[in-house]
Amino acid sequence: MKILQPLPMPEKKIGVLSFDFDGTLDCPKSDPRLDPEFFEIIKDFREVGWVWGVNTGRSQMQMLSGFMEGKFPFLPDFMVAREREIYTPGGMNRWLPVLEWNKRSEKDHKKVYKRSRKFLKVVQDYVENETDAEWVSEVGDPAGIIGKSEEEMAGIVAFIDGQIGGYRDLGYLRNTIYLRFSHKDYHKGTSLAEVARRCGVEKEQVFAIGDGHNDIDMLRREYAGMIACPGNADDEVKAHVREQGGYVCEQRASKGVIEAFHHFFD
Ligand SMILES: [Mg+2]
Repeated sequence: MKILQPLPMPEKKIGVLSFDFDGTLDCPKSDPRLDPEFFEIIKDFREVGWVWGVNTGRSQMQMLSGFMEGKFPFLPDFMVAREREIYTPGGMNRWLPVLEWNKRSEKDHKKVYKRSRKFLKVVQDYVENETDAEWVSEVGDPAGIIGKSEEEMAGIVAFIDGQIGGYRDLGYLRNTIYLRFSHKDYHKGTSLAEVARRCGVEKEQVFAIGDGHNDIDMLRREYAGMIACPGNADDEVKAHVREQGGYVCEQRASKGVIEAFHHFFD
C-alpha cells in the first residue's frame, strides 16, 4: 500500500471542510471517479488555513482502501469513520483515534445497546423472518442491517420507526441498503462539531457536503454554515438541503463538490 501523508498543518486554522466519501467524493460510475481538480482546490484551501476531512459511514479500515480507490495524492487532516469515530493521521498510513471522544462514544453505545436489547431482538427477528435482508453483528457494532434493495430497507425503516420512540437515546443511521443502530447523540453532525471545536473554528466557517441519508445530520445549520449536496444526492437529501437554505449542485459527485466550492467561495 502506498504511503500517503497529509499536507503540513497550517499554523492557524480558519475553517473546516467535511466531505462524505461514497457518492460524494468518490463515484465509481464517473470517469475519473474522483476529479483530480478537487485536490488542487484543497491545496489552495489549505494554504489559507482550512482543514479538511472525510466524514463517512465506512469503518476506518474500509476508508483506507477508499483512499487508494479515489487515488488520493495526500491524506485528509481528519477522518470520521462509522459516522462517529474521529481519527487524525499518525504517519505510515496509521490513524490515531481521538481518544476522549471515541471512548465516550463507545461507552455510550454500549449502554444504549444494552438498554435496547429487547427491541433490537424484535427487529432482528423481524429482519430474519419477514424480509430477505441480513442482520449483521460485529464487534463494537452489534446491530446492523443490510437490505436487498432500497425499497425493502424503506419497509424495515417503517417497522423500526413505529416502535423506536420508546427507547431512550437509541437512533439509527441509514445509507442506501445499509442501516446501523447507534446512540442518537453520535452522528456525522456531532462528530463534525467536535472536529470544529478542536480546531477552534466556529460553525459559520464549516462547510459540509454529502449525498445520502446519513449525511442529513451534518447538513444542518447547527453544525455547518455552508451546506451542499451533489446532483446525485437522494431526493430526501436535496429537499433537506433546500429547506436548510443550502446549495443543491447540478453536477454529480466530485464535480458537484467543485461546483459547491465555486458557489460558496468564489
Ligand atoms: Mg454517500
